[in-house]
Amino acid sequence: MFEPFDITHCDELIEIIPKKCIKSRIKVELKSLVKDDTIFLSTNLQVNESQVNESHKLTIQIEDKLYKSNNVYTFKIHDMYPFKAPDIKINGNRYTTFLRMNNPYNLKRLKTITNLDCLCCYSIVGCIPLWKPSFKIENILQEIRTYRMFRQTILYNLFFEKIKERFGLPVEIDLDGWLYSCKK
Ligand SMILES: [Zn+2]
Repeated sequence: MFEPFDITHCDELIEIIPKKCIKSRIKVELKSLVKDDTIFLSTNLQVNESQVNESHKLTIQIEDKLYKSNNVYTFKIHDMYPFKAPDIKINGNRYTTFLRMNNPYNLKRLKTITNLDCLCCYSIVGCIPLWKPSFKIENILQEIRTYRMFRQTILYNLFFEKIKERFGLPVEIDLDGWLYSCKK
């Protein structure tokens, strides 16, 4: 069960985590994240009592309030954190799946929009391990938001292509520009 993160109980929560290096690092991150009013922060500390030893797994949950998206991101913190990136899920699905774009047309659109060949190879937690201990959950949050925007733009482009096709409009007509110029 996830509990809303309560800054006044931060020390108690941190105290249960066994690894010293994680403790101080997580504390700093949680204290910074809780100040961000574009997210809702909660945590879940699971205790696994096996016969060999007792282990605690901390999962941080972020509900994204930016643009009222209400997407839920979970970050499972490893014992090796921050030397190993957390396991990330978006709305219950693995982030690595979100990063994979197999459709050649979408990859072409991505290249046109962002000049990137794919999302996975440029992600800090993607197929090429670009993760560094100096990266924080905050950086992953920023990446998720940026990549989500890329995917959204690709989707809009797809809609525009379909509209042009449907109404026999010339391909060079700038529906995209028209849409944004109408925003006042
Ligand atoms: Zn890739």
